[in-house]
Amino acid sequence: KEPTDINILADEFLRLAYHGLRAKDKSFNAEMITNFSEGLPKVTIISQDVGRVLLNLFNNAFYATQEKSKQSQLSGNGYKPVITVTTLQKEDVIQIIIKDNGIGIPPEIKDKILQPFFTTKPTGEGTGLGLSLSYDIIVKAHGGTLDIESQPAEGAEFIITLPVS
Ligand code: ADP
Ligand code: MG
Repeated sequence: KEPTDINILADEFLRLAYHGLRAKDKSFNAEMITNFSEGLPKVTIISQDVGRVLLNLFNNAFYATQEKSKQSQLSGNGYKPVITVTTLQKEDVIQIIIKDNGIGIPPEIKDKILQPFFTTKPTGEGTGLGLSLSYDIIVKAHGGTLDIESQPAEGAEFIITLPVS
């Protein structure tokens, strides 16, 4: 573990995720808004692992907006996918929040999505391992928390909280 500037890490990994998806998908039209707080204290983390969590969460957020886009095309209303990434400090923790305006998480599956192999994606598109790995990395390996907020049909928000050592 090394003292890490979370804004630099988030910028690096989310840029990677954003440009990777845009290169892969010609219809890519998501907007990424970054909302980084300045002067955050460093956190002592395995930066590659936390970076991988950010990639997972961003990919999930993007997928959720693509699903919503498909629904919106059917109903004919204008929909603009937006993924917002926020960093902030709260007392002795820092948080990284990845919020999307995608399909959201139905209450009946909210308790299951952290379980290994739980996925709602078609065979071949999802392993169901992203969130369970993310949980292990944030909670077990770093003593943090991974919280999930969702308004069904409005979108979802994943909140990573890490202690400032
Ligand atoms: P996978 O992406 O392979 O399905 P994950 O563990 O990353 O596996 O996610 C598990 C499930 O949680 C997804 O299949 C989806 O149903 C739900 N999920 C995760 N992130 C989001 C999100 N941002 N919006 C809506 N549903 C989500
Ligand atoms: Mg995933």
